[in-house]
Amino acid sequence: MDKKQQVGFIGLGAMGSLMATHLLSNSIEVHVYDIQSTLCNEIAEKGGIVHPHPKSVAEHSMVIICMLPNPSVVRSVILGENGVLEGVKRESVVIDMGTVGPSVEIECAERLQEKGAHLIDAPVGKGVWAAGSGELTILAGGDKEIIARVEDILNMLGEKIIYCGPLGSGQVVKLSNNLASCVNMAALSELYVLAQKNGIDIDVIQEALNGTAADSWHLHNSLPRVKEDEFSPGFKTKLAHKDLELVVGLGEELGIDLPVSSNALSWYNNAIDKGYEDLDWSALAKAALEKVESKSVK
Ligand code: NAD
Repeated sequence: MDKKQQVGFIGLGAMGSLMATHLLSNSIEVHVYDIQSTLCNEIAEKGGIVHPHPKSVAEHSMVIICMLPNPSVVRSVILGENGVLEGVKRESVVIDMGTVGPSVEIECAERLQEKGAHLIDAPVGKGVWAAGSGELTILAGGDKEIIARVEDILNMLGEKIIYCGPLGSGQVVKLSNNLASCVNMAALSELYVLAQKNGIDIDVIQEALNGTAADSWHLHNSLPRVKEDEFSPGFKTKLAHKDLELVVGLGEELGIDLPVSSNALSWYNNAIDKGYEDLDWSALAKAALEKVESKSVK
């Protein structure tokens, strides 16, 4: 009988837990680590093998997937004490699938290369609903030959793999995607405030915008949540906030002013200030209305 393929998985949050479970259901031997032991235990109950740190995950896997919240966590998981770099084997491939921007990918890839290992960036489109069913859109960046080596795993997790270009390109495409979606949620939040202040019902807004140039994913998925006051994530406000900060930061690195993104960020800062960081990003509209009603707009 063929030996099961061994894949490491680091970061078992809203997305990672579903993706790791999906790999297990495809007969992959999954070696996991998360700082939250309860999340590790949940995967262990489904057949995952829990490790004490990323180094140990890397020692047991030739493919290591990271699904982590932000670039500084990726840096510490890969380059830090007991990190992936300490345990990684020659010719292993790290697939970084969180939305973390291009710079950290290049930094980590260079360090891994010193040990004969590789990194590709493969952030994902769509949300939790696609993570558990292998229907993600995967935005791959890096050496084509290295991507081809892990294509079987990418195909399990995604229904579409888009090759974006050299290392970091997947992250740039993902940030472009999130620029559009995060700004759109900020625009709908302003629209919601205007409608509420004029006594216009959300249902009327939805019917009026449906099928016009103002139609959007958020119109159909986020505005109903605002109406129902139902903000369980979904995509957390703090992650959308982080993505827009990465967009603005990338602009700064390139010496480009991105005024639409910078201004939209103020609505995300407002939601974070109100303590909505762990709520779904549709809570941006609720926070915007609260800000206006408390007359604290400056
Ligand atoms: P999440 O916050 O639910 O999960 C992140 C996980 O990382 C948590 O379980 C946390 O405990 C773990 N973690 C934090 N620090 C760690 C460390 N040092 N070592 C090991 N584990 C650590 O986030 P999520 O929604 O699963 O998103 C993960 C990434 O995917 C983010 O970059 C996000 O922007 C991106 N993403 C999310 C969605 C979505 O719909 N949720 C969609 C597309 C992309």
